[in-house]
Amino acid sequence: MLSFQEMGLSPEVIEAVEELGFETPTPIQEKVIPLFFENDKDIVGLAQTGTGKTAAFGLPIIETIEKKNKSVHALILAPTRELCIQISRDLEDFARYKKSVKIVAVYGGASMETQIRALRKGANIVVATPGRMLDLLNRGAANITKLQIAVLDEADEMLNMGFRDELDGILQTTPENKRTLLFSATMPKEVARIAKNYMHEPVKITIGKQNAGAENVNHIFYQVHAKDRYLALKRIADYNPDIYGIVFCRTRTETKEVADKLIKDGYNADALHGDLSQSQRDYVMKKFRDKSLQMLVATDVAARGIDVNDISHVINYNLPDELEIYTHRSGRTGRAGKSGISIAIVNFRERNRIPQIEKIIGKKFEQKLVPTGDEICKRQLFNLIDRMEKVRIDESQIEPFMEKVNKKLEWLSKEEIIKHFVSLEFNRFLDYYKDAPDLNINARKSAKGSSDSGRGRREGRAGKYDDNFTRFFLNLGRKDGLEAKNIIGLVNDKTNNRDINIGDIDIKDNFTFFEVSQDFADDVLKAFNKGSYKGCEIRIEPAEKSGRQGGRKSFSKSSGGRGKYAGKKSGKRSGRSNGETRSKGRSRKKK
Ligand code: AMP
Repeated sequence: MLSFQEMGLSPEVIEAVEELGFETPTPIQEKVIPLFFENDKDIVGLAQTGTGKTAAFGLPIIETIEKKNKSVHALILAPTRELCIQISRDLEDFARYKKSVKIVAVYGGASMETQIRALRKGANIVVATPGRMLDLLNRGAANITKLQIAVLDEADEMLNMGFRDELDGILQTTPENKRTLLFSATMPKEVARIAKNYMHEPVKITIGKQNAGAENVNHIFYQVHAKDRYLALKRIADYNPDIYGIVFCRTRTETKEVADKLIKDGYNADALHGDLSQSQRDYVMKKFRDKSLQMLVATDVAARGIDVNDISHVINYNLPDELEIYTHRSGRTGRAGKSGISIAIVNFRERNRIPQIEKIIGKKFEQKLVPTGDEICKRQLFNLIDRMEKVRIDESQIEPFMEKVNKKLEWLSKEEIIKHFVSLEFNRFLDYYKDAPDLNINARKSAKGSSDSGRGRREGRAGKYDDNFTRFFLNLGRKDGLEAKNIIGLVNDKTNNRDINIGDIDIKDNFTFFEVSQDFADDVLKAFNKGSYKGCEIRIEPAEKSGRQGGRKSFSKSSGGRGKYAGKKSGKRSGRSNGETRSKGRSRKKK
């Protein structure tokens, strides 16, 4: 293994690196830095965040800047403002003893005038988000005609965020003979297109397996009913009292809801999503970085570019729609050689997505059971005892009070004092988890003594759901072009929630009856009564349950029989609704 000294770095840069505590190069640095100095070839680096990429391209770039150079020598494009700031800070650190190197970061959401002034003063390295960079180029405020090096950092993220046109716009204006370095955690088609169009026979470097999650991340999934998702999250948090993690949600609304509930339930959590102003985002991020916040609940977009080490857990409250995104989520933990845990909370239907993710990350998930109340209490208790043993005691500060305290506790034995102290801290958990149900789907089934066979399972589910549906009347029917899949789509889209169980759907010529899980009845009512379908105003209202049997029969007929409905893949929910409707059909037939 080469050391930093042997890689051709100057004494000034080596000194800075040593001060940062970098003793040996990370694998990507070991590969990229010597290659950078060896020849002029373009480089494609497939690597996760947290692998030391910034130093891999930053250190050699700093070395190539000549003192008298006043033009933009290197342009680094990154997906988010946070990442731009982080990269420019890192570069400032690396160039600590090369004072002539001027680094300027430009990104959206900040004053354009200040950035233009900074560029005018002179910049050797510009670190930019694509949108702001193109804007500055179009205004003639930035000049990259003498550019020697272009770096595309987290290229897949930039393209995911829709910066395709901006990247094309910027890269087209750069000189032909520049050198390009592209870094990406994954290699989807769009990234390959950029590499093909703007790079010349690049050398490809892969750190770990392509698309692999960080090597030191363990992947775990818990299987619960969709309605128990939040309870499962709480148990995970309670079972890991020292958790420092990110909880990923799919939408802003869900992010807000989950964070609000956690805060209300006394957890040290906050939300990060696109509805926050920049200063609110900065505030939340500062709390998280300082570790005064334990759980950050975030959307994928808002969490992009979060560059925080030591994250112990990444929790997928919901799996992402595009499974590739799982790689990015889980890559937020297990950084800089540390180990981490990535957890997915999945419902019955989502379970089959786990093997697909395993293929992408090249690693297996371990299925674990959601901890029971007893297990959590035990864990919390020992955590408390552990903290008590290790607490720092400031003798001089507490000494003046001890005599009175001892006197007051005279009537208690040592054992009793311990009991009192433990109960004081611990009753909250004991009360909360007293008689708490088992949230695991499988465990609950076996507790009920039901068979694990497909048939037993479906009957069990059907029995449960039969009692838990709310029936609605909808003012549109077959004549309005409505089919079962449209109802599913409407419920998905209007509520922005794909976890709502849908029961029977009974489409008549002029109106429809449909059932949704009782837990979500209010949400559905609210969401439906402020919209339209194909130009017709939508109105729904709760309906009597009495017509259900007839409804079921009609549903089978109106949707062309169970077989036809079962085969429909177009509705996002088709798989699950199909399973549940069929199960009801079966259990009814049996009776
Ligand atoms: P990056 O992937 O560039 O965001 O780096 C991830 C983290 O690893 C940052 O906190 C760096 O400061 C740290 N780091 C980078 N290179 C090294 C190294 N050679 N030794 C120790 N830490 C490093």
